[in-house]
Amino acid sequence: RCHFGPCPPCRQTCQNILKKCGHLCPIPCHDEALVKQKGLPQPAGPWEQPSEPAFIQTALPCPPCQVPIPTECLGKHEISPLPCHAAGPFSCKRPCGRLLACGNHTCSRECHKVTDVNGNKEKAGLECVVCEEECTKPRPPGCPHQCNLPCHPDDCPSCVQMVRTKCHCKISNLFIECTKLSMADAKEKNNLTSCKNQCPKELPCGHRCKEICHQGNCSPYCIQKVKLRCPCRRIKKEMPCNSVREGHISLECDSVCLDMRKKAAEIKAEEEKAATEQERLRQQAELEAFENRLKGKRRKNKRKDDVEVQPTAWQKYKKYIFMPVCGIALAVLTLYFTQVDV
Ligand SMILES: [Zn+2]
Ligand SMILES: [Zn+2]
Ligand SMILES: [Zn+2]
Ligand SMILES: [Zn+2]
Ligand SMILES: [Zn+2]
Ligand SMILES: [Zn+2]
Ligand SMILES: [Zn+2]
Ligand SMILES: [Zn+2]
Repeated sequence: RCHFGPCPPCRQTCQNILKKCGHLCPIPCHDEALVKQKGLPQPAGPWEQPSEPAFIQTALPCPPCQVPIPTECLGKHEISPLPCHAAGPFSCKRPCGRLLACGNHTCSRECHKVTDVNGNKEKAGLECVVCEEECTKPRPPGCPHQCNLPCHPDDCPSCVQMVRTKCHCKISNLFIECTKLSMADAKEKNNLTSCKNQCPKELPCGHRCKEICHQGNCSPYCIQKVKLRCPCRRIKKEMPCNSVREGHISLECDSVCLDMRKKAAEIKAEEEKAATEQERLRQQAELEAFENRLKGKRRKNKRKDDVEVQPTAWQKYKKYIFMPVCGIALAVLTLYFTQVDV
């Protein structure tokens, strides 16, 4: 019905289809909104009456669409509702987190657009960073060297360095392949660290250790051969130093030794006997010679008146000459034979 004064404002919602997104504008009708007029001339001075605030009726454009639209972030970390007018690719500010080609690190860039490589949604894309770290994988036990590859997937290549070390006896410097040493078990390690020369250490007995350059203390069992003799020194035998020193073995004289000792004693007794006999014969001969000289003088004195036929001197004295000569010959022979025995 017709009424006094201006018509009341439209109470319907706008419902215009928004051109950009096709949603309906949800706010009350804004075709005849009262808008404070802008651009009015400022009062020239205090005397001028401020002009009436002028409102004009005009149609306002639809405001930006606020319909929430679920939107995924660039790095596909989350889906958030965004107002329709602002919906579009956005960064959630999280670190990208895709696994880099090195296999050990992830992309640290802030959530960004990723172009997948080979359609893989887990691995780093074209826009992700490239790992520039050194390899930090654990080294094999005992290897003091560094991997010479940049950060890489899979196992490190085996170490090609050499290790310089002193051998067990501390005389030689050995150069051993690091891998060989780090792969070896305790026994093999001992073997590798040996210079393969005879151990230079001296054992308590004074002999040199017979083992090849070895770990730890020398064996207390000395195997050096030493000569052992029986009391009469006839039998000799070679024995390991260790067993002789500990008194386990002693060498006794055997029956041959005893026989030999007995024979030696007999020979000595015989020699003494012969020497006594010889002395006796010598003294007897001397005595006889003396007696003969005495008899001879007496006979010379008688010769002048003696006419009887005398036996020749040889016939008379041959038995006295013969006996001492035989005695001397016997003595010489005995002496000769005993010396041959000795
Ligand atoms: Zn909208
Ligand atoms: Zn994100
Ligand atoms: Zn890396
Ligand atoms: Zn990334
Ligand atoms: Zn490595
Ligand atoms: Zn050595
Ligand atoms: Zn010894
Ligand atoms: Zn030794």
